[in-house]
Amino acid sequence: MTHDEPEGSELPVSDNPRIISRSAYDITPLSEERVRELASRLDPEAYRVTQKAGTEPPFCGNLLDNKKEGIYCCVVCGLPLFSSEHKFTSGTGWPSFYREFDPQHVRRVEDRSHGMVRTEIECARCGAHLGHVFDDGPKPTGERHCLNSASLVFYEKGAELPPESRPIKTEVAYFAGGCFWGIEHYFQKGPGVINAVSGYMQGNTENPTYKDVCYKDTGHAETVMVVYDPTRITYRRLLEAFFDMHDPTQLNRQGPDVGTQYRSGIWYVSEEQREQAEAYIRQLQESGKLRGPIVTQVERAKTFWPAEDYHQDYIAKTGRACHVKDPW
Ligand SMILES: [Zn+2]
Repeated sequence: MTHDEPEGSELPVSDNPRIISRSAYDITPLSEERVRELASRLDPEAYRVTQKAGTEPPFCGNLLDNKKEGIYCCVVCGLPLFSSEHKFTSGTGWPSFYREFDPQHVRRVEDRSHGMVRTEIECARCGAHLGHVFDDGPKPTGERHCLNSASLVFYEKGAELPPESRPIKTEVAYFAGGCFWGIEHYFQKGPGVINAVSGYMQGNTENPTYKDVCYKDTGHAETVMVVYDPTRITYRRLLEAFFDMHDPTQLNRQGPDVGTQYRSGIWYVSEEQREQAEAYIRQLQESGKLRGPIVTQVERAKTFWPAEDYHQDYIAKTGRACHVKDPW
């Protein structure tokens, strides 16, 4: 199979690609100069906390009792760091969260100051000191991120966010190629792929579980949602990778896995995707490189239902071998 792009679809090549988090924010570390410039605009308390690792007195911060829905961003650079969804009342006097907005947005650093060993948390983009994380928090993480209000700026749900607090523009594609573990694993490695998530699609029930899909004939296919940066990778390149990763001539099975949940499918979100998928399938079929007819279904995408947490990043977490071929 060739990986030639159609004429005119060359993507710009950058020597210094941005680092994009899995929630689609630009987390490329800012230069010291840029951080100094941003920090010079802070009020004295925010400056002391974020730049000098200061701690505000307990029960004083303005966000301690904030119960509104929204996101908490870095007061220096604007990166979203925590969400109201994960805030809880810890009784410590500082705003507390049991998890980050995105783990890639908050960096952990060992802190041996004041004769203790603690884990300091910093903004991953600008290095602002935020507070500390402790292991005495509530379920499901058991963690307590202990924040200084002065390190955060809160935006209520629905409020317009400044550009530095918004995600980059992304597009989404859906592929079903048998067991989602391996397909997700390799899509996640694609240059320009921001996030790959395992889930279920094109079935007849809502919120299906893995057991429903395997034993109850719900009609869902194991599907991988691919969120990508269209300035770095094309839909065409994703199609090529998809067909490299699985055997599109096998009907309702892939390797050892048999059943309609393992069917081969492309679930398109636009007419443009549909046309590209159908054209690529025709081209691949006519190339004579496959042993039989392509049985891949091409259908308009229905609702994507994310799979259970234990299915996400399964290969990366377990180190299990996978029969899927690396397409990159
Ligand atoms: Zn920051």
